[in-house]
Amino acid sequence: MNSETSQHIKNIVIVGGGTAGWMTAAAFAKLLRGGFNITLVESDEISTVGVGEATIPPIQNYNKVLEIDEDEFVRETQGSFKLGIEFVNWGRIGERYTHGFGRFGQDLYTVPFEQYWHKLFAAGKAADIAEYSITRMAAASGKFSRPQLELRNSPLSEIAYAFHFDAGLYARYLRRYAEARGVRRIEGKILDVQRSAENGHVSGVRLESGSVVAGDFFIDCSGFRGLLIEQTLQSGYEDWTHYLPCDRAIAVPTASVEPPIPYTRATAHTAGWQWRIPLQHRVGNGHVFCSRHMSEDEATAVLLANVQGEVLASPRTLKFVTGMRKTPWKHNVVAVGLSSGFMEPLESTSIHLIQTAIARIINFFPDREFSAADIDEYNRITRLEFESIRDFLILHYHANQRDDSAFWRACRNMDVPASLKMRMALYESRGRIFREGAELFSEVAWLQVMHGQGLRPASHHPLADLVPTADAERYLASVRQVIANCVVGMPTHAQYIAAHCAAR
Ligand code: FAD
Repeated sequence: MNSETSQHIKNIVIVGGGTAGWMTAAAFAKLLRGGFNITLVESDEISTVGVGEATIPPIQNYNKVLEIDEDEFVRETQGSFKLGIEFVNWGRIGERYTHGFGRFGQDLYTVPFEQYWHKLFAAGKAADIAEYSITRMAAASGKFSRPQLELRNSPLSEIAYAFHFDAGLYARYLRRYAEARGVRRIEGKILDVQRSAENGHVSGVRLESGSVVAGDFFIDCSGFRGLLIEQTLQSGYEDWTHYLPCDRAIAVPTASVEPPIPYTRATAHTAGWQWRIPLQHRVGNGHVFCSRHMSEDEATAVLLANVQGEVLASPRTLKFVTGMRKTPWKHNVVAVGLSSGFMEPLESTSIHLIQTAIARIINFFPDREFSAADIDEYNRITRLEFESIRDFLILHYHANQRDDSAFWRACRNMDVPASLKMRMALYESRGRIFREGAELFSEVAWLQVMHGQGLRPASHHPLADLVPTADAERYLASVRQVIANCVVGMPTHAQYIAAHCAAR
């Protein structure tokens, strides 16, 4: 650093080399401009969680900041593109809907587009909401292209997308990136954690080899175990199982039997749901379930009965407790990734939370004073972020009309947070949705899930009546037509990958 003082941090230690560890290392290597010694410790003996292969659009910002060539990244991670998530059997068995990324229609006069749609849909004068979304229509047709920004005012300029990728290849890709920019990797199992007698801060980690890796600032990316944040500093964990009851997943890869579809599929079963994540070289599958309602053997049987293609490895069980670390930053340790908490993989938010934690650490970057006010604010913002995502996830479970199992009945009857109750009440009255502060999910994300899960507003925004019904109808019809025309001209997802980023 240019103006060094004794208060400046010099040595940063990242504990763990999963997605969280390497995303943090790569971002620090880029953003901290060589001003610090960055060391990452990981153990070959302790495997990474190995899942976490679906993302959401803000990951593009991470790539941009790191100046990652997206085509290269997709190629090297056997990746594919993702336009949304298709939910099958969630509201009722036999129903399906997609949460597509990006916006819907275009704003018309005084109130948001969806308010005109609510009015016309209730009157039988509008098509399903999907038909006003370029990403949903493209996903349904197996089409993909990146946005064509030069086509201003065309839906083709507004395609929002994310990625599916192989988690192991992603960590390796970021490792190369980070090491090339000066991050030192140490392989070794941490046996214990040393603390300063003076202030209780973590001062170093001792490896099986006997060597000690000392540091001023520690990022705990050690996964569910929370080696520093919990096992050492006892931050405490807030358990949200009463809201998000699934606590196990069985994961299994299968061979691809068709070109990758440009979306994740989440199929509800009797005590949970199954993911399908299409990559170039294989498909990732997993069954997330609630162990109070289904045994592991049964969950494995359900999963294997619902995959296509040859099973490429033995099914693996992952156990988790939904919730969050009470203080993700404590002393000189910040938890990033699974060590900071875990909610459902249902909306692919975990990797996103890694990304936002990194951005927040940069914003609150400490010196060796470790200001209590900064730490409190970091923890407060992290909590708000977790809670708003939690509410969105609970909605998928709670708003269901399934009557086929005790699990779904219990989800429907469970008490939900007051914040979610209020959102549902506002929607069920006049279809109003408000996005608070910097919360992740947009109004149309909430709309799609509320509508998809079967909620219907009693009425619409009164100001939607300012536009004569016939005019609104003509307008919606034109949006729908333009989108349909655009989708016809798009390449298929497979064609797009072949032209830009096929794995070699
Ligand atoms: P891990 O991958 O567990 O890595 C922990 C690291 O710490 C390893 O390198 C290990 O060697 C090291 N370590 C631990 N203890 C020691 C020690 N004593 N000494 C040295 N090293 C040590 N997220 C998404 O965004 N999208 C998804 O689709 C998605 N699906 C998921 C499905 C399931 C079932 C689960 C459980 C999670 C899913 N996630 C998903 C979350 C995602 O997998 C994680 O957020 C992501 O992989 C980050 O994990 P991590 O790096 O925090 O932990």
